[in-house]
Amino acid sequence: MRIDLRNEQRDRLFTVYVDLEDPPAVVRPPNAVGGSKAHLDWDRALDDERHLRRCPVCGCPDLFLRKQMPQVTGFVLIILAAVVAMVLLGIGEVGLAVLILVLVGAVDVAIYFFTRRVLVCYRCRSEFSGMPMSRRHGKWEKTTGEKYPPPRPRTTPPPPASDEADAETHETLSR
Ligand SMILES: [Zn+2]
Repeated sequence: MRIDLRNEQRDRLFTVYVDLEDPPAVVRPPNAVGGSKAHLDWDRALDDERHLRRCPVCGCPDLFLRKQMPQVTGFVLIILAAVVAMVLLGIGEVGLAVLILVLVGAVDVAIYFFTRRVLVCYRCRSEFSGMPMSRRHGKWEKTTGEKYPPPRPRTTPPPPASDEADAETHETLSR
């Protein structure tokens, strides 16, 4: 199984390949020299059929299915084929026009079947692919997505000086 790890801020970390028969608890980026590593929690991440049901990176129980393909490619191809077919029809090349449309249909079907299916964690957006997937995972849903709002950008804590200033004003007021 391939994992594209992200942290809780949804920043991309690194990609690892793990063996689901013996999933590692700690993973490191390939060719890493010490330093960064990530802990994976497999305790309840896999069901009886070794299907992923929780994100081993952050423990989130909600995952959605994404098809990894350049959607625009198929669309552009169809538009192009339609234009070419119309031109061919215009000059009376009916056979050729039909052939082009059939070819494009076949390519579209091929794209559909060779598309990589990816499971994505709602919370941290880590991605999992290259393993058998349970049928219960659906596409991204707004209602579930709203349970996991995008993380807030890191903010620096407010300077403690203001608290002290407040305390001082209270002290002066109480005097
Ligand atoms: Zn996650």
